[in-house]
Amino acid sequence: MIYHRHFQLKKYNAFQTEAFAKIFCEPATIEELRQAILDYPQEQKLVLGAGCNLFFTRDFDGLVIKPNFKGLREMPDQEDGSILVEVMASEDWDSFVAHCVENGYAGLENLSFIPGSVGAAPIQNIGAYGAEVKDCIQEVVALDMATGQSLSFTAQECEFGYRDSIFKRTKKYIVISVVFRLNKSFQYVEKYADLNQELSELEQPSISDVREAVIRVRKRKLPDHLELPNCGSFFKNPYISAEIAEKIKSEYENLPLYPVEGGLLKTSAAFLIDRAGFRGIREGNVGTYPNQALIIVNYGTADGNEIVRFMNRIRDAVNQKFGIMLEPEVWMF
Ligand SMILES: Cc1cc2nc3c(=O)[nH]c(=O)nc-3n(C[C@H](O)[C@H](O)[C@H](O)COP(=O)(O)OP(=O)(O)OC[C@H]3O[C@@H](n4cnc5c(N)ncnc54)[C@H](O)[C@@H]3O)c2cc1C
Repeated sequence: MIYHRHFQLKKYNAFQTEAFAKIFCEPATIEELRQAILDYPQEQKLVLGAGCNLFFTRDFDGLVIKPNFKGLREMPDQEDGSILVEVMASEDWDSFVAHCVENGYAGLENLSFIPGSVGAAPIQNIGAYGAEVKDCIQEVVALDMATGQSLSFTAQECEFGYRDSIFKRTKKYIVISVVFRLNKSFQYVEKYADLNQELSELEQPSISDVREAVIRVRKRKLPDHLELPNCGSFFKNPYISAEIAEKIKSEYENLPLYPVEGGLLKTSAAFLIDRAGFRGIREGNVGTYPNQALIIVNYGTADGNEIVRFMNRIRDAVNQKFGIMLEPEVWMF
């Protein structure tokens, strides 16, 4: 395995900001991964997937590991009508979803067209159109970066939450593979208004109808990160108290609210950003996408700090207007 020094990371992050890794490697096997950890015990480490949810504000003074673990293994059908599929971390997420849909393995179709790798999916428990990946995860196999030991986590041990997991909180593990439990039969369940609307003319949408509808809706709403660099939703949707919700509703009656745990309500970060005057705004080389205020886009800066400054302007404006401090979903290094 080659260790690259002073390695340019621009094409390894979806915002395409420029930064150099002190050391960069792409282990293709678990042995190579262990060797990299042994070779550089003192260096801080960063694991890279496809870079769709992170960007750089400065050079990374340590070892960047971009695993290159490929492969997919289907296990025999289970008695309850499900199938287990183990997928290696570096497989492309959407190609895997396409494979499931083609074979009639149900559960992940609402998560179609999310860019990134399979290994990153459990990190923030990716979600879209009323679905979260946690609901199809049976097990995550990961390597402890401190000890080199490989461990297996049940879905419960992954401690999944909204855009959250044990992997995200501890930053201690490298995901090697994910085992999914998928259904061999499909029945469309209405979960999300935009998607229901898109499928409204079909009496019994098939699993392929759902995937195609998700892709159509996403293409209409979201910019392609390869054409207009972005990391998708920049902020998490905030959880707020009933009291704050009532206060905002007195001015904005149509504030979206969904009950969540602990008596709190989840609201829409895009709605708040929009009402704070930041939809379709451009400042220098950075802006929010006109069709979706939650997406920050890079119109041409190589400096991640410009994105951070713009992000802070949005956070301050939303906080001043609504008393809510938005939390970034995107990782900044
Ligand atoms: C246009 C666009 C739309 C998007 N839409 C959605 C959406 O609808 N829903 C959603 O949830 N997300 C969405 N995202 C965010 C992103 O696609 C997901 O977070 C995806 O899982 C990132 O995968 P990645 O391989 O690019 O991860 P990276 O960006 O490379 O990494 C993300 C985090 O995971 C860690 N990581 C990556 N691989 C591993 C591994 N093998 N082991 C341990 N840690 C690892 C990294 O260190 C980093 O902290 C969108 C992004 C874009 C650009």
